[in-house]
Amino acid sequence: MDGYRTKPRSSEHFDGLRGYHRGIMAAALKPRLLLGPGPSNVHPRVLEAMAQPLVGHLDPQFLELLDEVQALLRPLFGTENPMTLPLSATGSAGMEACLVNLLEPGDAVVVGVAGVFGNRMCDVAQRAGARVTRVETEPGTPLDASAMGDAIDRTQPRVVAFVHAETSTGVCQPVEEIAERARRAGALVVLDCVTSLGGLPLNLDAWGIDAAYSGTQKCLSCPPGLSPATFSPRALARVAERETPVQSWYLDLALLGNYFGGNRVYHHTAPISAIYALAEGLRRIHDEGMELREQRHRQAADALIEGLAPMGFRPLVENDHRLPMLTTLRLPEAIIERGEASLRTTLLERYSIEVGGGLGDLAGQIWRIGLMGENARLIHVEALINALRHELQ
Ligand code: PLP
Repeated sequence: MDGYRTKPRSSEHFDGLRGYHRGIMAAALKPRLLLGPGPSNVHPRVLEAMAQPLVGHLDPQFLELLDEVQALLRPLFGTENPMTLPLSATGSAGMEACLVNLLEPGDAVVVGVAGVFGNRMCDVAQRAGARVTRVETEPGTPLDASAMGDAIDRTQPRVVAFVHAETSTGVCQPVEEIAERARRAGALVVLDCVTSLGGLPLNLDAWGIDAAYSGTQKCLSCPPGLSPATFSPRALARVAERETPVQSWYLDLALLGNYFGGNRVYHHTAPISAIYALAEGLRRIHDEGMELREQRHRQAADALIEGLAPMGFRPLVENDHRLPMLTTLRLPEAIIERGEASLRTTLLERYSIEVGGGLGDLAGQIWRIGLMGENARLIHVEALINALRHELQ
């Protein structure tokens, strides 16, 4: 057997490897305070949960845990949809799952574009062969519900899609008004809740949302890698009456339903350790309660804005539409002149604090500061303010 070692490796070899890995962990991975647009820091209990011994993905113990995860996700989304599941991939896969299942080639879709992630929705829908109508808004402003309504009335789309919490601009969208216009025209409504789930109370059933997805690395404070998602019975009926197969085998809801929908028949190997982490993260949210959690996010964001105002940072978004978990701040001239990217590097290297820069037209003009999930605490706001005070004095 060329290339295979026939002699067992010595214990020194494995001790050496362990030492090597410890070395890498200690030398290369300094802990960071993650105050960018995601990921956010993970609670030690979530990390401990991830380190539990692996069991099989069809083991009754694991299936019980999966039931618990699905049961905890429903109230967080504000839905009773039986088909509420953690998709085994990041938020972008949640976006794809919603759009490729609900759209067939030639279908009309209206997408609200208030930033980078609305744009990504258009791209995904276009690749699914849909006819996309974009309704855009200025960066930092919310979608205009009546412009969305006009586009809906004009194009009679099968699907209306938009982002609840647009992470590229820090704007919260007027969900109910848009969903109402879409429903009136008989369209299905898809909502991106990647940044809002676990930071703002969601009420998808009451809002009339048919499909929504999120990500684990933002306000759920779990590692990235899963996309909690939910589909209404109306959405599932639409999938059942498709004329063409869903272009993605991996994200085909009818196939996924075999495992996540109740029968627990193998579809793909569930990412077991990631589900351990999500279960623990969701329990923490359940124990805290969404009311307190929202309050904590709002308090942290207010303290951030107040603390940075004397240094010349100004909110990009009007108070009424501002997200509590992701604050976008226009940079003072002095920071733009000195080079905002180099100041972010200094924050990272000297203080181990990560903050996000602007995207697209807002690059170099704003910072995106996330106080998400576990990180929405005054102590972290103070750490950032003190570091900046020190650097800017
Ligand atoms: N939608 C929004 C609003 C996001 O903020 C992100 C990621 O930042 C995504 C979608 C994509 O998620 P992921 O990077 O987990 O694929």
